[in-house]
Amino acid sequence: MIPDGIGGWLRRRARTSADHPAIVFRGEGTSYRELADRVDRIADALAARGIRAGDRVAYLGNNHPSFVELLFASALLGAIFVPLNTRLAVRELAYMLGQSGSRLLVNTSPLEPEAAAAAAELGIPRIVVVENHPDDPVTIDAAVERFDALLAGAPDARARPEVVLDDPAMIIYTSGTTGRPKGAVLTHGNLTWNALNVLADYDVVSTDRALMVSPLFHVASLGMGCLPVLAKGATLLLEERFVPGDALRTIERERATSISGVPTTFQLMVEAPEWATADLSSLRLMTCGGSPVPARVREAYEARGLHFSGGYGMTESAPGVTMLPPQHSVSRAGSAGLAHFFTRFRIRGTEGVPARPGDPGEIEVRGPNVFAGYWDDDASTRDAFTDDGWLRTGDIGSVDEAGFLSISDRVKDMIISGGENIYSSEVELAIAAIPGVTGVAVIGVPHERWGEVPHAVVTLAAGATLDPEELVAQLSTRLARYKTPRTLEIVDELPRTASGKVQKHVLRERYRLYSQET
Ligand code: ATP
Ligand code: MG
Repeated sequence: MIPDGIGGWLRRRARTSADHPAIVFRGEGTSYRELADRVDRIADALAARGIRAGDRVAYLGNNHPSFVELLFASALLGAIFVPLNTRLAVRELAYMLGQSGSRLLVNTSPLEPEAAAAAAELGIPRIVVVENHPDDPVTIDAAVERFDALLAGAPDARARPEVVLDDPAMIIYTSGTTGRPKGAVLTHGNLTWNALNVLADYDVVSTDRALMVSPLFHVASLGMGCLPVLAKGATLLLEERFVPGDALRTIERERATSISGVPTTFQLMVEAPEWATADLSSLRLMTCGGSPVPARVREAYEARGLHFSGGYGMTESAPGVTMLPPQHSVSRAGSAGLAHFFTRFRIRGTEGVPARPGDPGEIEVRGPNVFAGYWDDDASTRDAFTDDGWLRTGDIGSVDEAGFLSISDRVKDMIISGGENIYSSEVELAIAAIPGVTGVAVIGVPHERWGEVPHAVVTLAAGATLDPEELVAQLSTRLARYKTPRTLEIVDELPRTASGKVQKHVLRERYRLYSQET
């Protein structure tokens, strides 16, 4: 048994690669020895403030080395790190701080006065590391000063509790796409095995320089990027926020070897003026999660000899479930790929009969990276697992003979119309291709004859128009008639989660209230 969970990773790396840069932030490198030392001091400071094993320590902020430092310091103490999304609304933040019972909030970005008040009301002490106000621009020195103030006076205790792989390391809230965000408890073991999956499936080496432009509070950035990179002793090129042109310049200047993001990240880089001239020759690996890379974007990178590796995952599996190897990115475009090395998935068939290759069903996952449950929510935890212990993902997919997974839709978003299954995501893809459409969500709405029919909610570019007849006409060659929405709603904005996913349950509820009124 490994005794010290992920908390010991940095010290171990400080022994093998003391002077190798662990993090480069704003052009300044922090070596593994420096990072391990700082993390030790921060752990002492936290302990001096009364943080003990099992206590929750929340963090709210943009990318900054202090995120990594606090994460590992918490891990050393057996405390549970709670990363929070900076785009959450005040009430959501207050909910997460309260539900997790956080004892401390460290924040490095401006906090709305209401959120500060909420933290105060919950009796949560707050440490502001960096106040990033536009009129009070923060330098790295100010950040270090604040942190050093936090460390001052802490006894050099170094007494560390025993932390084992089954101990909780983090509570990460799910995106809240299908309802209220749930606090997934990820153990040291879950995070370790996910990192091992990444190291087994990608060619990560200690000389890698991984560009991190996505927010670290996203489980994908943490699990697929940050943690495996530090476990391996490679270098994290940490950007405070994503500015496409800056990212391209950083790749060139820092000779980045890998970059991870979502499809929009890569699309915005292609659209940046710097794209044409940027030297991307150092890049070896590009990982893209969340949804498949649009063909247009993929081709722009392929024209420069760069291939994507996609992936499928979720908060509850810390997060990787499948990955599409770069060598299959063209031949298997659109596929979510193969199961990670130490993880298994299966497709649930109907009535106890296992699904055959190609048959769609709910995707179920098992492996040492799969979580054990949600924080303080036994009912949701019970619902999350099958009787024989597999994680129910709530996603529908199918697997082919070679083991490649295709994802169709969420179970909750699938529409059943006259006995036919309609995948909302397929209809959305077709509608998104109509000129002038900037956003789309398709939901099932009640229908006397068919049970349910698809209904489209769209946002349009300024000046663009679309009516139901035109929609039907536009889709006639792309979609079967029963899949084509006959009703259409044009809205200014779609309701989205803090990570940008459309909340269809909000749209369904709005439709229900509206149809009751009329
Ligand atoms: P909530 O569970 O609160 O409703 P969420 O499921 O969106 O929110 P996350 O854990 O952040 O929260 O997201 C995981 C989900 O994202 C998956 O269950 C799946 O629906 C979707 N997803 C992830 N990767 C892919 C992919 N490659 N293709 C399609 N969908 C994906
Ligand atoms: Mg989910």
